[in-house]
Amino acid sequence: MAKKQFKAESKRLLDLMIHSIYTHREIFLRELISNASDAMDKLYFRSLTDPDLNLDQGEMAIRITPDKEGRTLTITDCGCGMTKEELENNLGTIAHSGSLAFKQDQAVKDREDVEIIGQFGVGFYSAFMVSDEVTVKSRAYGSDEAWCWQSSGTDGYTITPCEKDSCGTEITLKIKANTEEDSFDEFLDPYRIQDLVKRYSDYIRYPIQMEMTHQHLKEGTEDEYETHTELETLNSMVPIWRKGKDEVTQEEYNNFYKEKFYDFEDPLCMIHSKVEGVVSYNALLYIPAKAPYNYYSKDFAKGLQLYSNGVLIMDRCPDLLPDCFSFVKGLVDSEDFSLNISREMLQHDRQLKLVERNLEKKIHSELQNLLKNDREKYEKFFQSFGLQLKYSLYSNFGEKRELLQDLLLFPSSKEEKPVTLAEYVSRMPQEQKYIYYACGETVAQAAHLPQAERVQEKGYELLYLTQDVDEFALRVLGQYEEKAFKSVSDGDLGLESEEEKQELQEKIQQNQPLLTALQEALGDKVKLVTLSQRLKTLPVCISTQGGLTLEMEKVLNAMPNDHKLKAERVLEINADHPIFATLQSLQEEPEKLKEYAQLLYTQALLLEGLPVEDPVAFTNAVCDLMVQFQGETAQA
Ligand code: ADP
Repeated sequence: MAKKQFKAESKRLLDLMIHSIYTHREIFLRELISNASDAMDKLYFRSLTDPDLNLDQGEMAIRITPDKEGRTLTITDCGCGMTKEELENNLGTIAHSGSLAFKQDQAVKDREDVEIIGQFGVGFYSAFMVSDEVTVKSRAYGSDEAWCWQSSGTDGYTITPCEKDSCGTEITLKIKANTEEDSFDEFLDPYRIQDLVKRYSDYIRYPIQMEMTHQHLKEGTEDEYETHTELETLNSMVPIWRKGKDEVTQEEYNNFYKEKFYDFEDPLCMIHSKVEGVVSYNALLYIPAKAPYNYYSKDFAKGLQLYSNGVLIMDRCPDLLPDCFSFVKGLVDSEDFSLNISREMLQHDRQLKLVERNLEKKIHSELQNLLKNDREKYEKFFQSFGLQLKYSLYSNFGEKRELLQDLLLFPSSKEEKPVTLAEYVSRMPQEQKYIYYACGETVAQAAHLPQAERVQEKGYELLYLTQDVDEFALRVLGQYEEKAFKSVSDGDLGLESEEEKQELQEKIQQNQPLLTALQEALGDKVKLVTLSQRLKTLPVCISTQGGLTLEMEKVLNAMPNDHKLKAERVLEINADHPIFATLQSLQEEPEKLKEYAQLLYTQALLLEGLPVEDPVAFTNAVCDLMVQFQGETAQA
């Protein structure tokens, strides 16, 4: 019989399917199952208004039958079926398919867009990715004739009368033969099929059934097996996120998470949210207990699973998840997203943006609750993902500062446990102007910075910043509740009274020749040598002028770039330390003074945790001093 030709655009899509080298061709099964489920829905809705149609929805099922020998895979439904005209219209052309956007020339031309096949519905034609020939036997509800549509590709299709006992559709795929590069056997393997159903179609409302063969130990024997063949339902049908919160136990939620997102550990917390509104959706979100090993690398890809009415349409949809909470795992299911939504459409989808914004709020408030009600757990969370919050605060010029500032924790001089900015500010004495912080590789190092002495003596709390991003994040914040942040290494700590300042100025003036001599000895290593107000017991420290602090200098220079940055260093000397009197006494010995200037500068670097510029010279100088000292004491 003469073959009918496909409409031009159908032909093009078909061609693409047949020659697709797409690796996710397995999604054909999802497409056919979705169509079957839709057809059963249609019949069911009809039964609601048609009294003659007495339908038991509980009896309706989709059947999958693989036949290894015959290399066929059959999918049967008991849905509304198709008349001859419908077969012609629906399968001969793709004009009403929702995946139309995909078929626009530009998309098809663009090699990369072939991926759309995998990510979004492309419907019936995807069957041709795995089969040489597709046979559709269908009998429409209410009709007593059945028709068979058959095609082996772009050269057209035939429609002939056939036999079929009941209404519905039976699609038989002749699975392609294996080639050197590709094996198609997997689509005939019951376990693989079971896998695919679980993965893509687990929440189809109707049971998806297949005969499964299992081996059991024969009763009463120890090594004799017998095989059992049973019709099994492969899908779980009602998704856990569609159930009420009181219908699901914590354990079920956790197990679902572990299975779905391949984690060994229970999640730290879970958010189950149902939203009705402009966009209605169910979201099930989890915060993992630990950061995945690649979380802080560029290999990590954020995203939530996107379901449309229980059918997986995208495994990792990045647009649903704000960057600052990229650690969240989970899924969103919405009837408002169509199965055939294209990636292009997704990116510009306002609904998607809306969901993202809602989720951001939701995750934020969940974290705040955790912080308030389960501090220990929150600290655990912060250990894993605090860095991400800080990076996010820093990025985009602090766009998310309002959202994130209250989620930060820092080690503090006042408490063993890390504290929030709100806690810090709440206990600031009235006269304290700034939020003080000290940077170091470790808390211990930051706590012992010479510059911190004065602040601590005042009894003011200090935040310890030990991660590279910390100071940048605080810089972006600028202030918290109108209190500006201040590094203890900053030139002016704002601690002195006017009188004290005056006093220091006078002292500096009196010792100006000495200070100038020291500064000259150090050349361009420092911008200034001056007397310190911040030191208590230690002899020297380095502070900085201008916006760049030593910590920032360290971090920025650790990044690969050509121009090295240098903070403007100030060497501060403690005028109350005995070393100062020694320096004063050396004014007539410029050579020695020079040597001492170098030594003091190096000590300041050491105290700061900065590398010594010339360790050999430093060691020799200290040894000289020791020898000299020993000589003098021996003489005395
Ligand atoms: P889409 O599902 O996006 O509309 P398809 O190419 O998958 O596109 O299917 C085209 C049309 O064929 C469907 O809209 C539906 O009307 C019809 N159809 C496909 N499969 C079946 C089925 N199993 N039973 C009844 N109708 C079907």
